[in-house]
Amino acid sequence: MAASAPYLLAADALLLVSPWIPLVYLALLAGWGWVVSTKLDKHAARFFLPRQSWNIFHLSVGMAALLAAYILPPIAGLTGWAGFGVGLGTMFALLVMSLFAYQTATSRDSRVPEAHKLGFLGLTGGGPKKPKENTGEIKGAGRVRLAIKGPDKQTVQPPVADSADFTVRTASEDLLVKVLDDRGSQLDVQPGSGAQQYHASWLIDGLRSGLMAMPAGDAVKVMDFWKAAAKLDVQDRRRKLAGNVTVERGSERHVVRVSSQGVQGGMRMTLLLNPEVAVKRKADELGLLEEQFKLMQEMTGSSRGLVLLAGQADGGRTTLLYSVLAMHDAYTQTVQTVEMEPQLTLEGVRHQVFDPTVEGADYSTLVRSMLRRDPDVLGVAEVPDANTAKEIARADYKRTRVYAQLKAGSAQEAVEGWARAVGEPEMAAKSLEWVVAVRLMRRLCTNCRVPYAASPELLKKLGVNDGKPGQQLFKKGGQVLIKNRPEVCPLCRGNGYFDQSGCFEIVRIGEEERDMIAQGNFPALRAAMKKQGALTVQQSAIRKALAGLSSVEEVMRITTGASPAQPAAPAKA
Ligand SMILES: [Zn+2]
Repeated sequence: MAASAPYLLAADALLLVSPWIPLVYLALLAGWGWVVSTKLDKHAARFFLPRQSWNIFHLSVGMAALLAAYILPPIAGLTGWAGFGVGLGTMFALLVMSLFAYQTATSRDSRVPEAHKLGFLGLTGGGPKKPKENTGEIKGAGRVRLAIKGPDKQTVQPPVADSADFTVRTASEDLLVKVLDDRGSQLDVQPGSGAQQYHASWLIDGLRSGLMAMPAGDAVKVMDFWKAAAKLDVQDRRRKLAGNVTVERGSERHVVRVSSQGVQGGMRMTLLLNPEVAVKRKADELGLLEEQFKLMQEMTGSSRGLVLLAGQADGGRTTLLYSVLAMHDAYTQTVQTVEMEPQLTLEGVRHQVFDPTVEGADYSTLVRSMLRRDPDVLGVAEVPDANTAKEIARADYKRTRVYAQLKAGSAQEAVEGWARAVGEPEMAAKSLEWVVAVRLMRRLCTNCRVPYAASPELLKKLGVNDGKPGQQLFKKGGQVLIKNRPEVCPLCRGNGYFDQSGCFEIVRIGEEERDMIAQGNFPALRAAMKKQGALTVQQSAIRKALAGLSSVEEVMRITTGASPAQPAAPAKA
């Protein structure tokens, strides 16, 4: 031992001072540094991730790795080749770990679109590789990009390339891909104004945004393709049909509800994307302001009396109904619904679907029979006629809470409409406890919104008396600077808005208010509501604009009904 030690030490010294060991370490470090600077940093810059923090993190890990490579082997008492091996291995593991940390963290970040999530260790993917699709073109050879599965979970096999069926398949895909790329939620294909022409359009954050003309022949083939995929009767172009398909693109998976119905001039098809996700929001994600959330909790804390839920068609009413029902405990209470088209199945809730095609089917009769079973909570998704309104007004509310959905823009409008529908004001007022109105507002994309100082005139117009002059507001952007060059915002795809949020009005109907409704004294009711201090839909919307969540333009759009910017003339197909 004693004799051999000097030799070993000499060998170690030789190994340590040998010039290629630091070179091996540095080469490894350089390779890792190249990945970090060319892939990860660019990726972070593109999607507005905390780039500086990530660079500090990577730099720290790099230094720690180098230090560990030199310090760890002597501490562990390893020398010679073993020490070198352990040092190199530790360094390698630490460096790989930093890449892995970045990949894991960013793959969970909503700012990074699905197609731009990094592959394993950041070495694959990540580039803006998505091909730009031709805009108006529906015909032409493309390629199969989607995996489409029918309701039976069987994959719809792509036809032989270059066949006529193949063209229909790729055209059908192209249309959906365009909607997916635009973050659309619903695609509609229906006859246009001219004969032999169809229009395809889609909704982005609740607004009809795209518009594309298609020759009728092409449109019918595309509609038939989707109907066949959903296992619907392709020959039936009149009755209302609906079925689901699943569409996969890379790691994205979408449930698409295909429905078709005969309309004047032909057939209409709607592809609804991920219908469950759209209406499934927890109550605290609806966009309620803090004081409104408390009112909502108080409201759902009781299970008696009638509550009117008011909104516009497709304006968040369904989401509101489901959220409110979900706030009741479906395990200790019987919670049921009557619906024409349930959008999702709530756990523990019995959804009763009204089928108008059944001989002698009557909606109000169904509602009455449901009420007779004394459910604890009943959600009535539609009040289509006076008879249904009367059944609801007449119900026994000693043990039952009913939520009835109406089409109305405000609580006041809802109450007046309700009283008209029931016909007898006293009956209409009797069991009414709460009224909730909702309108959906688009949220500004936080990635590209543009700040500006509000003028005193604007603040006055918004009714903000305590607004300091020069208060910061935001307007829609759509572009961001990447390397000092304006580029389309990758998050909202240039739209300027991202997602929607509800603006609410929640009004409690007390003894005093009930008397006013019974007397048909609606001006007095309006004054009483104001006295209550409940925020109106507009006031809620303004609060959101002041908080930077949305724009003044959007407040105006949803409260004055000013029509949004319409898309330009249909693109030529
Ligand atoms: Zn944006």
